[in-house]
Amino acid sequence: MSNIDTASIAFDATVPAPLVNGRPVEVADGVFVIPDGRVPLVPNIGVIVGDRAALVVDSGLGPQNGAAAHRIARTLAGDRPLFLTLTHFHPEHGFGAQAFRDATIVYNRTQHDEFRQKATGYLAQFRGLSAAVAEQLEGVTFVDPHVVYDGGADLDLGGKLVQLRTWGRAHSRGDQVVFLPAERVLFTGDLVENRFYPIFPFLPPYDVDVDGNNWITVVAELQRLDLSIVVPGHGEVGDTGLLDVTHEYLTFFRSETKRLAAAGKNADHIVATITPQLHTRYPDWDTSEPWRIATGVQTFLAQ
Ligand SMILES: [Zn+2]
Repeated sequence: MSNIDTASIAFDATVPAPLVNGRPVEVADGVFVIPDGRVPLVPNIGVIVGDRAALVVDSGLGPQNGAAAHRIARTLAGDRPLFLTLTHFHPEHGFGAQAFRDATIVYNRTQHDEFRQKATGYLAQFRGLSAAVAEQLEGVTFVDPHVVYDGGADLDLGGKLVQLRTWGRAHSRGDQVVFLPAERVLFTGDLVENRFYPIFPFLPPYDVDVDGNNWITVVAELQRLDLSIVVPGHGEVGDTGLLDVTHEYLTFFRSETKRLAAAGKNADHIVATITPQLHTRYPDWDTSEPWRIATGVQTFLAQ
């Protein structure tokens, strides 16, 4: 068990339980999203249905959510073979994998290594967030993938080509995007959110893998893709504007942090200075989790 300090991650006990509860929306031919409904610790879950097979992107938090995602995926996929992949190992994205007993699970190698190293610590940390989160994590078992790939992987689901790609450490060590070049759809995981502040999981000494500099590079790479639909980790499905605002946010955030640090300001001062600037700059973003800004400052100061 880890001793990760969760005190800095303030959670409102009145927030809705983290339950996958959305009706799937077809965002492109055969490409469905189970929307998160902007409920904390519910991810957007993808179900991509080809002629011969179907791929699920992210599992939800814990066995019940995994079962809900699996039930919806099975309904959409019929009797086609199912694949499951994760955008990254974080609990609300990957800790429902055990419900996909009939699926072939595919991770990239870095993601798998990171999962094996950190899953137990993150489970303990997330259990401490609230009773509702702990309830969803009841009975979690860790499931290893059937396929681990290096570099990139392409899945041909039958009339639907899916590319699994990574550009290295950013929001996590093993971030993976899921790209459909013909449908011009991209699932980003937590590399991109919609009207939520990006999450910097900077938890020294347990997890300091978040890389703000490379995150900016990764988003710039994603901006080069020919896209019409961007499915963020959390928040409404959007278009390439989500990539643009994420790149703009991260770049501004880094430069302000570095500028204030160079002027001799400490982390608390920087957070207090930047926060109102960000609230003005992004007036419709969710401000209920200020730790997202604080851990971002710590990340860039550590780099
Ligand atoms: Zn995450």
